[in-house]
Amino acid sequence: MTAEEAAWDALNSAPEHYTPPCDGRALFTADRLSDDELALCTSICAACPLLAECDAYATAAGVKTGFWAGHAYTNKGKSL
Ligand code: SF4
Repeated sequence: MTAEEAAWDALNSAPEHYTPPCDGRALFTADRLSDDELALCTSICAACPLLAECDAYATAAGVKTGFWAGHAYTNKGKSL
């Protein structure tokens, strides 16, 4: 199992009935966010119990888009 796969499994082993607060929110997959939107996403992640697992996955997978674990990602890496 790769580090990316292990991190994904850890992220998905969250409590069965817990839905992350980003689920279904387009802000977390938008190409660009305003400063206010970045602040909103940051505050949502700060209160998420999956923050550590989400950050580990984003790092292991080398994500290039979206907002993960309190950080906006682009093809240049973490931008926030
Ligand atoms: S920490 Fe990850 S799972 Fe939690 S709200 Fe933020 S992006 Fe979603």
